[in-house]
Amino acid sequence: MAGWDALIVGGGPAGSTCARVLTRAGWNVLVIDRARFPRDKVCAGWVTPAVFRLLELDPAEYRATGLTIQEITGFRTSVIGDRPVETRYGRTVSYAIRRCEFDDYLLRRSGARVFQTTPLGSLERRGDSWIANGEVSARVVIGAGGHFCPVARLLRGGAGEAVRPVVAKEAEFRIEAGSCDVPGEVPELFFCRDLEGYGWCVRKGEYLNIGLGRRGHGDLNPHIDDFIGFLEARGTARRAPHVRWLGHAYLASGTGPRPLVDDGVLVAGDAAGLAYPESGEGIRPAVDSGRLAADTLVAAGGRVGRDDLLPYAAELERRYPAARPAPQPLVGVVKALGRRLLRSPAFTRHVLLDRWFLREG
Ligand SMILES: Cc1cc2nc3c(=O)[nH]c(=O)nc-3n(C[C@H](O)[C@H](O)[C@H](O)COP(=O)(O)OP(=O)(O)OC[C@H]3O[C@@H](n4cnc5c(N)ncnc54)[C@H](O)[C@@H]3O)c2cc1C
Repeated sequence: MAGWDALIVGGGPAGSTCARVLTRAGWNVLVIDRARFPRDKVCAGWVTPAVFRLLELDPAEYRATGLTIQEITGFRTSVIGDRPVETRYGRTVSYAIRRCEFDDYLLRRSGARVFQTTPLGSLERRGDSWIANGEVSARVVIGAGGHFCPVARLLRGGAGEAVRPVVAKEAEFRIEAGSCDVPGEVPELFFCRDLEGYGWCVRKGEYLNIGLGRRGHGDLNPHIDDFIGFLEARGTARRAPHVRWLGHAYLASGTGPRPLVDDGVLVAGDAAGLAYPESGEGIRPAVDSGRLAADTLVAAGGRVGRDDLLPYAAELERRYPAARPAPQPLVGVVKALGRRLLRSPAFTRHVLLDRWFLREG
């Protein structure tokens, strides 16, 4: 039976980041993923500069490989149907990447051994080891399988998620010359009239990503249809009704505690439910937690008992509190004043964008 120091389930940003740090520390690491890379991930593909810093990856180095990376220098924001507020920064404040390219690049860069098209079927404890799929043995398992991660489910004792996730749908497609008026450097965000979610148009060179996500109650489809109709009427994306829309879900931090570690096992990224609640940004918490998981394991010097891994859970809780501090006055104000606040250039820049979306400082 093949034996590994660490088995990582899921080769997304959380898994590949954890794999890279462990491999560089001399660990013998296997990543298994049910998909074949490059694979699509339902995601707008907007990343803040902090992601590149955490990855120790220069955006210029990434661009030099020939992969798509769009610099973002501003945003257009509005409630659907209202006149947009345009906020310009005069410098790069974010990037847009294509997840099929980005995740494949990071996984290859990790240096770990990767078994693709290998879903985790079974995971059992034998002595001090984990046995996966009856044939892979590892001392520690990192669950980085995203929202439906089977390792996270195991930690919950087999129970499903108790909390309703954010549900979202998106489509990414190649645009024909002259058929799209979204400038690459200024993506658009359209808040739902009830402020329970938002839609977006994010351009990445020859590609346009459109989508909409909402807190998970009620049917998402009428909101998607409404949004498509709105985009069509504006002439923004004439192909929107005809492209393939894909759906997915994620949990934001602040929705309640969930198990993060146990003997020889921990979870990271969406498997731990870490996305920022205001923006839905999940790539940065995935990379951050992947690094933190690996750093914790290295610091524990080969010990992987629950107590040795608790510092990971404690630090994750500090960075991504499971319970949000209540009351949340600012959010309450936004809900109450809604459209009026989102028409204010000062509120849009300093609160909505700087504080909630870009998390600068
Ligand atoms: C519509 C939408 C738009 C979003 N837009 C943004 C955005 O613009 N910016 C941002 O920062 N975040 C965004 N997010 C959130 C972001 O996509 C996630 O937070 C991020 O992908 C989490 O990374 P991860 O590595 O934890 O999981 P994932 O990226 O989901 O990777 C998990 C991996 O595990 C594999 N896997 C799953 N089950 C198994 C199994 N049983 N066995 C083996 N492998 C398995 C999967 O194939 C996958 O490769 C968006 C989410 C949605 C739904």
